[in-house]
Amino acid sequence: MTISVTRNPSPKQRPAPGQALPFGRLYTDHMLLMNYDKGQGWHDLRIAPYGNFTLAPSAMVFHYAQEVFEGMKAYPAPGGGTLLFRPLDNLARLNASCRRLCIPELPLEDVFEGLKALLRLEAGWVPRDPGTSLYIRPTVIATEPALGVKASDSFLFFVILSPVGAYYASGFKPVRIVVEEDYTRAAPGGTGSVKCGGNYAASIRAGAQAHEKGYDQVLWLDAAERKYVEEVSSMNIFFVMDGTLVTPALGDTVLPGITRRSILQLAQEMGIPVQERRIALAEIVSAHASGALQEIFGSGTAAVVSPVASLTVEGR
Ligand SMILES: *Cc1c(COP(=O)(O)O)cnc(C)c1O
Repeated sequence: MTISVTRNPSPKQRPAPGQALPFGRLYTDHMLLMNYDKGQGWHDLRIAPYGNFTLAPSAMVFHYAQEVFEGMKAYPAPGGGTLLFRPLDNLARLNASCRRLCIPELPLEDVFEGLKALLRLEAGWVPRDPGTSLYIRPTVIATEPALGVKASDSFLFFVILSPVGAYYASGFKPVRIVVEEDYTRAAPGGTGSVKCGGNYAASIRAGAQAHEKGYDQVLWLDAAERKYVEEVSSMNIFFVMDGTLVTPALGDTVLPGITRRSILQLAQEMGIPVQERRIALAEIVSAHASGALQEIFGSGTAAVVSPVASLTVEGR
């Protein structure tokens, strides 16, 4: 597929070095786009000025949330150029999400070429201050104007770029997490292991209530028994107990984080014992009581590695 490029005639003022970059508020001058239509497949890969879309109010994404996305990051390479962190893993996961949501799989080689072309065009937007990066948000939405519940016949794929600093409002400070006792995020057979907006829509209320009480995030327990630790909304969770790095095993209710996998690989290379397994909340509580619990941290592209300051279980 060839990539057509329409340059933005009025580029924005780029953030100055040292300027604070709130997460995901500022966007670069261009975006990558591609359309899907039944019978035609994916077509019209293009770079265009960043700007609003026109969609029918009946576009299916608005009603039934047939939508998937990714989150990845680009960093300045020492000596020039831009480095992507494991982008092919993100693209493979995007197609896995597409399969689960009945969205036609993307032609990943074309998408990757398009992404690289976009990043070359926007290279000047990759921030260079410590702790900053260029956040990349690939997204697919259902655009068919139809209210019947079915898979859409048309989709829009787009990638937008945002220079970012720390994900949490608290900056890189350790986060305060509370175990969620009322709501659940993902049930067996559901969509917990894919990156789709619907998962987040369903989790906002729990997050908002936690914020009101002074916490940054909730820790989700398994939906079936409410006994086992799963993850934090946008991060996988790790515990260090007696020198062993332990994280919940993947399944269909935990998002297979690329940062998570990288941490497991690095830990193994460093000779740190690693376990991926079911972790009962009660085990964490007793490991804390006995002094075996040494560290808790979350991992995700947006938050990178986020130390946990406190974990609140039943008010304690
Ligand atoms: C994206 C995401 C993560 C982190 O995955 P990374 O690939 O490390 O960014 C963890 N949990 C959920 C629910 C996510 O959506």
